[in-house]
Amino acid sequence: MKGREIFKVDGNKITRLRRHCPKCGDGFFLADHKDRLSCGKCGYTEFKKSEKKPLKTDNQIKPEGAKENSNEK
Ligand SMILES: [Zn+2]
Repeated sequence: MKGREIFKVDGNKITRLRRHCPKCGDGFFLADHKDRLSCGKCGYTEFKKSEKKPLKTDNQIKPEGAKENSNEK
């Protein structure tokens, strides 16, 4: 049966492209957002864990006024 390509073969491992909602069950897929998956029916949200936090970069972005001299508490 073709037409239901839920799995993607990446090299020699199979990646699941879509996940279904654990609450609603099979047939209700989670919408794929940038950093999370969410169910449009019940609102279930699952955050993607594998990625590191994109907001905390050590040296690049600093809040204004926070200089490296001696401004720590
Ligand atoms: Zn759901």
